[in-house]
Amino acid sequence: MTSEVVVIGGGQAGLAAGYYLRRAGLDFVVLDNQTHAGGSWQDYWPSLHLFSPAEYSRLPGWPMPPWHNRFPPASHVVDYLRAYEKKYELPVRRPVDVKSVQRVEGGYRIDTDGESYETAAVINATGTWSRPFWPSYPGMREFGGTQLHAAHYRTPDMFAGKRVGIIGGGNSAVQILAEVSAVAETLWFTNREPRFLPDDVDGRVLFDVASDRARALASGQRDTGGVAGLGDIVMVPPVRDARDRGVLRARPMFTALTADGVTDGDTSETLDAIVWCTGFRPALHHLRPLHLHADGAGIVLNGNHVRGEPTLMFLGYGDWTGPASATLIGVGRTARAAVDTLSRRGKVDQS
Ligand code: FAD
Repeated sequence: MTSEVVVIGGGQAGLAAGYYLRRAGLDFVVLDNQTHAGGSWQDYWPSLHLFSPAEYSRLPGWPMPPWHNRFPPASHVVDYLRAYEKKYELPVRRPVDVKSVQRVEGGYRIDTDGESYETAAVINATGTWSRPFWPSYPGMREFGGTQLHAAHYRTPDMFAGKRVGIIGGGNSAVQILAEVSAVAETLWFTNREPRFLPDDVDGRVLFDVASDRARALASGQRDTGGVAGLGDIVMVPPVRDARDRGVLRARPMFTALTADGVTDGDTSETLDAIVWCTGFRPALHHLRPLHLHADGAGIVLNGNHVRGEPTLMFLGYGDWTGPASATLIGVGRTARAAVDTLSRRGKVDQS
């Protein structure tokens, strides 16, 4: 099959790209390996809530319907993404798993678990959820308890009455800690002092910081960073409750796991289970045939496309692909820039 543009990934980033591709009148298709619409939001633990109100969690064109409480749950985002996809009649094919992308004359060939596609341009929007990151510590294999990544966490029930280590200093760690600590004894390990936002500040301030940064970069100013970052902890109600119960006490990271717990060399703690809330990496295995890594280093982007590949765009992976581009409100800006680049290029190529 042929298409001017193929978007790989039908989560929020792929849909934002679809919105602008449709507006630009380009011929495109979105390939997504999930059975249903909603991207990774449908796989999050059920109690997860956004850290900002619905009006700050919108894709381009159509705002997310308000939620009666301040912070909508993940299921509300899934409903929104499903409705968004329908509203704009985005041509998403699923489940279609992209296995590999290879260069061919005039563009790329995309091989999937079904059909193959030929295209002049690829927008890669595969997210990070399918690639949980596990750091490496001595003794990980010897530990006799349960080890789980946040990507596979669902509810706290399995930890009832146990002693559980929660690893990580971000919002996932704190939200999971908040609910596990209600049924189990928890020990919280972080490799830097956690940064808590004030109670009256929510995710909006983080987006504002990211927007300031985007504007500064666009006007050619030097990147000075911001006072708050997207990793800072938002004091959503369950997290405030955990603080009031006195369980938000971070301790420095241990240096090794033992058969029945963890140690820093001097002191040891016994643990029944460890939840690794240690983040994710971009899901890019299908791009391996393109050998995009420069001299063993990371993939280098030039604006929104891969250096040396003007029609291979990356979308939604975080600040790497544009300030706040891993968020609902931030991804629209990067999607628009990517599609603008492609349509300008199309016009140049046709002239
Ligand atoms: P995804 O949603 O992961 O979508 C990518 C899609 O591509 C998926 O459907 C995937 O299955 C598919 N795919 C992957 N590989 C292939 C392949 N080879 N072939 C075909 N399809 C493929 N953001 C906010 O804006 N506000 C928040 O409050 C917020 N809270 C968060 C809390 C937590 C705990 C987490 C983990 C994230 C949070 N985020 C929040 C961030 C946001 O959820 C993610 O960054 C966002 O879902 C990423 O969207 P995406 O479209 O890039 O990726």
